[in-house]
Amino acid sequence: MDYMLGVDIGTTSTKSVLYDMKGQVVAYANAGYKLYQDIPDMAEEDPDDILDAVVEVMGQVIRKAKAQASEIKGVSFSSAMHSLILMDKNDQPLTRAITWADNRAAKYSDELKSNGLGAEIYAKTGTPIHPMAPLSKILWLRHERPDLFKQTKKFIDLKTYVFFKLFGVYKMEYSIASATGMFNIFKLDWEPQALELLQITREQLPELVEPTAAITGLKNQYSDILGISSKTPFIFGASDGVLSNLGVNAIDPGVVAVTIGTSGAVRVVVDKPVVDPDGKLFCYALTKDKWVVGGPVNNGGIVFRWVKDQLFAPERITAEQMQVSTYDILTQIAEKIPAGSDGLLFHPYLGGERAPIWDAYARGSYFGLTRKHTRAHMVRAALEGIVYNLYVVMLTIEKITGKPKRIQATGGFARSSLWRQMLADIFEQPVTIPESFESSCLGAAVLGMYALGYVDDLSAVKSMIGVTNVHQPNPNNFEVYRELLPIWIRLSEILEPEYKEIAEFQKKHSN
Ligand code: ADP
Repeated sequence: MDYMLGVDIGTTSTKSVLYDMKGQVVAYANAGYKLYQDIPDMAEEDPDDILDAVVEVMGQVIRKAKAQASEIKGVSFSSAMHSLILMDKNDQPLTRAITWADNRAAKYSDELKSNGLGAEIYAKTGTPIHPMAPLSKILWLRHERPDLFKQTKKFIDLKTYVFFKLFGVYKMEYSIASATGMFNIFKLDWEPQALELLQITREQLPELVEPTAAITGLKNQYSDILGISSKTPFIFGASDGVLSNLGVNAIDPGVVAVTIGTSGAVRVVVDKPVVDPDGKLFCYALTKDKWVVGGPVNNGGIVFRWVKDQLFAPERITAEQMQVSTYDILTQIAEKIPAGSDGLLFHPYLGGERAPIWDAYARGSYFGLTRKHTRAHMVRAALEGIVYNLYVVMLTIEKITGKPKRIQATGGFARSSLWRQMLADIFEQPVTIPESFESSCLGAAVLGMYALGYVDDLSAVKSMIGVTNVHQPNPNNFEVYRELLPIWIRLSEILEPEYKEIAEFQKKHSN
């Protein structure tokens, strides 16, 4: 049997899936790790915890499948974007991995936005100016931790750290590089203006390689425990977001990947790098000739979790006693309310927001409440509000990529037929839910198969994903949404200047 191993280094856990060359899952493993949040806005991970998890899950799937070293034809990697680790002259980490969720660089990204430099750099890098990006993080560390900054030999990310440990080289592929805010997506090289701003040299950054590049020579200590030959090629791979597009087969023009998990995203593949004139979309590499344009959204399923925990606590307790999902009960309740929630609108910005408004101060609100509205309306309006927000991201993307033709959707939301149908109705597009499990792992594996010549084209993924559900837009519903969406969008604009003051009030009075 020939196998391809896909590994996805995520924010809360690393997943590994062993596939046969037809993309069928042979074995799966998952190992979690701690997110350090010792002080406000911190979100760090211990790079060695991640390395241990990577080694653990690779070993587990190989053991589960009883795969021989000669059967593993390649290992290919996906990883979360935007992490930053500072390495010293002895190749020891000076910091933990500062993840995308860490907000401590906010002051510096705000500064870049207001002095115009951010817009100039974004136009070359395609990474929105935000504390998530290593660009802002390095600027913050240069100012606030000059002791660490001065000792830094290399600025790397988690995947580069793992490859460094396994192979002893500092190499970063274009996809992760394109999410650092320091990589010129048009020239496929580090951007001098960004390096100058940060006062770092290109020698302090990893060597750049293509996502399809492979490396051999796995160190003995790992090949022994893993049962992987040191001759087995490891493919550098790409980031989790773009690989998820590949893993759900959203790589053709007009096919949009929508994810609603804890957070959310809308992403479309294009064949050349492009940037958004307003700086609100990212453009990250999948390969040299496939780029992913999109917007990341903070407020996805986490908002539904809030509804469940804060508005329906008694139902939650009953559901738990009956061992059924409270989400299922809530979606049944929401199903009884007509599309549009009888004119109740909800802006889902409970956790500030990235795309489409990029406003950390944004706050949530219900609008249009009357005495007729019930808690059931509030559930439905919340689910609709999450989708309206993603739809607005789509409108921004559409200006660059043209009208979508079809949606491939993934994430925990897909367990609800009501929510899936809502996506079809609000976007007025057919929605397909691929069966593919761990889409970023599958994406990594397919990229690996392509890199090693086991498939001729990335579109080979088509035969690997399966389909669980397809929803067509329902005219009775989308006509209601067509009426409400302009009001929802106008309200967003009206509310935007108000967010900062209320957020500051909340901060001042929080204890
Ligand atoms: P993550 O993004 O952390 O990997 P998931 O993709 O599983 O997580 O998404 C989790 C979200 O999925 C939850 O916050 C919730 O909003 C939603 N969800 C989970 N179960 C259901 C369900 N039965 N019906 C509707 N939504 C659900």
